[in-house]
Amino acid sequence: MSSARLQTALARYDRLYINGAWVAPEDGGLMESIDPSTGQPWALVAYGGPRDIDRAVAAAREALSGPWGKMPGHERAALMRRFADVYAKHAADLAVLETTDSGRSIREARADIGGHSNGYHWWASLADKASGRTIPFDSSVHAFTTRVPVGVVGAITPWNVPLMAAAWKLGPALAAGCTVVLKPAEQTPVTSLELGKLFEEAGFPPGVINIVPGYGQGGAGERLVTHPDVDKIAFTGEGATAKAILRAGTTADTLKKFTFELGGKSPHIIFADADIEQAMNAATNSAWTLCGQSCALGSRVIVQRSVYDRVVADFVERAKKVRVGQPLDPATHMGPQAHHEQLAKTLAYIEHGRNDGAELVAGGNRLNGGAYGDGYFVEPTVFAKAHNKMRIAQEEIFGPVAALIPFDDEEEAIAIANDTPYGLTAGLWTGDTGRAHRVSSRIDAGMVWVNTYRFIRWSTPYGGFKGSGWGRENGIEALDSYLQTKTTVISTTGRFP
Ligand code: NAD
Repeated sequence: MSSARLQTALARYDRLYINGAWVAPEDGGLMESIDPSTGQPWALVAYGGPRDIDRAVAAAREALSGPWGKMPGHERAALMRRFADVYAKHAADLAVLETTDSGRSIREARADIGGHSNGYHWWASLADKASGRTIPFDSSVHAFTTRVPVGVVGAITPWNVPLMAAAWKLGPALAAGCTVVLKPAEQTPVTSLELGKLFEEAGFPPGVINIVPGYGQGGAGERLVTHPDVDKIAFTGEGATAKAILRAGTTADTLKKFTFELGGKSPHIIFADADIEQAMNAATNSAWTLCGQSCALGSRVIVQRSVYDRVVADFVERAKKVRVGQPLDPATHMGPQAHHEQLAKTLAYIEHGRNDGAELVAGGNRLNGGAYGDGYFVEPTVFAKAHNKMRIAQEEIFGPVAALIPFDDEEEAIAIANDTPYGLTAGLWTGDTGRAHRVSSRIDAGMVWVNTYRFIRWSTPYGGFKGSGWGRENGIEALDSYLQTKTTVISTTGRFP
């Protein structure tokens, strides 16, 4: 197809959402968004440059002193509830768009995005609950605290779960009374722009939410991070990017607050006394979720030696049953990798696994040609006889690759689980309640699931130990991170000292 013909077939998202209006980029441009199931562009999307970020930040700052900034918490809550209802109305369409843009299967996208409205409702319920306290001292003063919004938030999101990553930031930010400039990842920007339409439909005042897709270093992302009028950066992405953001966002001109949701290399420990069938359901589901592109992926499956062979055999059987295919087909379990670089990264790690001596027992190949065309599909891949020091066990692959590591006793399982620079999530399967408490208390992770996996809700704080991040998203903890404490001391006598 000629590129001219292709252009006319592309969906057009050629405006940024700034100050309640759809505007052309000033110093950005248009970029193609690739459908990873075909490897072809499917949408033409506006991206912002530094001047566009400046406009968005100015609008967000102004909105803080406008109707939004003056709105009582219960009215903000009502507006957020309206948004949550609008979101629910459009959730099915959003799921189709996110599947097209990112390649995640429609069944997963529907389940995930179908729940976001509940999350926004929950955040709305907190919008009038940020109260301070009275501090007793003596009768000469009345001392008290109030909780006030941190101000303008720069929300920077990754490509794997754009709507979820946005919800986890917008929900608490709005509940706290902040204003936001959202910069989605350049690979999957479409659904974040769609959010602008929903905020309009809900009747949000201009400037409260601004949406500027763009590039990271040297582009909109970097400008947002270095902008002196941005008070907080809420970032989800890679650890190396977080460190660059921390350096850039802490200069002579700007000292920001940060929350970082970063990568993981989660252990999924299966003891021989566990309900193995249930453990397998969770471990295999977790290994292929989001085509393996999930920060909570249980990619290190640590299995007690007496059941190791059985688990390996079962993993292989189940890997063969995963339906890899067109992501919009409701029968598909697993779609393609979200973009070409991720495809290359996943295949490179499969090579590392082979070279480092792990035994490839399932998958290991790209699927293309025939029904897969030029899409970025990879087989669900399983390595047995893996060792925790191998690269496939230490580094975040972000592809559908499970490494099955044997252990003998509790101490060894804990040591392996903790032997990684990450500490985001962990899974533990056992029939022994004492062991559940003993082991879970010693795992260095921000979230430990026992006899379940990936139980993530808006009310359960989520975030990492060690290299997996700073701060928490979800839960009351997240609201706290968009508020700051102000202490007021009023003299009851008017005399100083
Ligand atoms: P990334 O760090 O490459 O990019 C994330 C975002 O940062 C993008 O919007 C990008 O444009 C922007 N960015 C890049 N460089 C920047 C810079 N110098 N200044 C400002 N912005 C910049 O991450 P990714 O590849 O998009 O996402 C994958 C990573 O995200 C994985 O490590 C994954 O584990 C992590 N992740 C974590 C969670 C969590 O909740 N902990 C959830 C999803 C993804």
